[in-house]
Amino acid sequence: MPIHLHDLDVVSQAAGVSSALIVPCNLCPAVTVAVNQKQPFMKLFRSLLKSAPFEQYIKDLQSRLGEKGVKTKVFRSPIYHQWFLCMWTGGRRKKLEKHAKQHDAVIVLGCDTANETVRDAVEPTGARVIEGMQVAGLMNAKLSLQLPANISFKDCRIIPISQEA
Ligand code: SF4
Repeated sequence: MPIHLHDLDVVSQAAGVSSALIVPCNLCPAVTVAVNQKQPFMKLFRSLLKSAPFEQYIKDLQSRLGEKGVKTKVFRSPIYHQWFLCMWTGGRRKKLEKHAKQHDAVIVLGCDTANETVRDAVEPTGARVIEGMQVAGLMNAKLSLQLPANISFKDCRIIPISQEA
């Protein structure tokens, strides 16, 4: 089951930044946003590769940052095997490093391991890493397929992550 995430205040953290690259993980954050908004995670006939609520979330974030003078681009990971930042290939990490060189900061939308992937990849560039989300717990939900082709998560509960003694 995916991880459930809370938003962090990205706009405040980006104070003093003039350009930022947003790096979204396309699984847990997208499921989180869909669940929070009570929207389908995906509409298969409309888009096989994008979650509409998460796309809107990213656009809203770009617009809020734009109002503060922060120019943004999104580092897209459209292919399924690129969705999970925790399992990116070496090639994908190199590509992020190349793109991050053109920005003051990189904004990660994902969990701690997503932050780690990005921090490692952009370390040589000196770009500041801004954590856009924080882990709230594990998600327990009922996967629901609705005709014609909506994928949703229902009756979602957040299960705390056990701490090691
Ligand atoms: S990097 Fe984190 S947020 Fe992304 S798929 Fe892996 S566990 Fe989920």
